[in-house]
Amino acid sequence: MPVRGTLRTPNLRRVQGSTVGRSYAAEGWAPLSTSVFQHTVAAPAIFAGVGVHTGQHVRVSIRPAPAGAGVTFVRTDIHDRDNRVPALGEAVTQTRLGTVISNGAGVSVATIEHLMAAMAALGVDNAVVELDGPEVPIMDGSAEPFVQMLDRAGLREQDAPRRFIEILETVEVTEPGKRASLSPAEQFEMMFEIVFDSPVIGRQIVDLPVDETSFREELSNCRTFGFAHEVEALRQAGLARGGSLENCVVIDGDSVINPEGLRRPDEFVRHKALDAVGDLYLLGAPLLGRFEGVCAGHGLNNAIVRALLARPEAWRYRVLAEDLARTG
Ligand SMILES: [Zn+2]
Repeated sequence: MPVRGTLRTPNLRRVQGSTVGRSYAAEGWAPLSTSVFQHTVAAPAIFAGVGVHTGQHVRVSIRPAPAGAGVTFVRTDIHDRDNRVPALGEAVTQTRLGTVISNGAGVSVATIEHLMAAMAALGVDNAVVELDGPEVPIMDGSAEPFVQMLDRAGLREQDAPRRFIEILETVEVTEPGKRASLSPAEQFEMMFEIVFDSPVIGRQIVDLPVDETSFREELSNCRTFGFAHEVEALRQAGLARGGSLENCVVIDGDSVINPEGLRRPDEFVRHKALDAVGDLYLLGAPLLGRFEGVCAGHGLNNAIVRALLARPEAWRYRVLAEDLARTG
């Protein structure tokens, strides 16, 4: 596969302008997400749908933002206080049913992880995500609709180098039976393992480099999942109001009750990896390092983000554009 205009790993040192704005699929080029320059959307990406937990219909517009701004969610339905919530690990306030971020004024945005995963994988460094409700629409339960929306909007290269977070020392967080870690690697890699006492899931493992190509092909269309008995309990608690077989794989006993079945035999662990890609993007920069998650969820994903940021000796910002300039 040609690597023109892109940088698969820090060891491939040739970058000749941007491929952004061109069709990945049409030209068959290598990933854009490892470009050494920052990107924002070229035009607003607009979509709407229901929140899986609130059931509210929400309209979203992903708009361009200046270089260095990062990703910020803006609740356009709130006018009487600060309605901006930065997509950063320190803003995470709930992780039980998805990742929720909040600001100091108590304004929150729920279920950001699948959209964040799509933006991480496609290399959207800077964007303002306007939404007129409390939760990002669940769409089909995967990240694929967001990828399509961003493809339609296109990306624009910005005149500023991208800053990666390079892992220098292994950082690990654990809970009984669960583990998440970040360790040094030349590129963003991910291993995820889940073990469920369910014949439909059992033990599943994925281990892959995470770049735009692998995300599109291996993870992006894998849907969130739940168990029928849990869905019932959530409904009784007033949650999962927007949940349905249209946006969630539901397991009942030894079978999947969605009539279309699974998109992949191991869709479950691939979705967990997708979640982790989104949760890790709350570091505020793309990763150069290996993530390992064993039975981890949004809580542990956020714990590893916070643990890394709390240990300045374990990571550094790395500007690959400067490395390239040095090596000619
Ligand atoms: Zn998810």
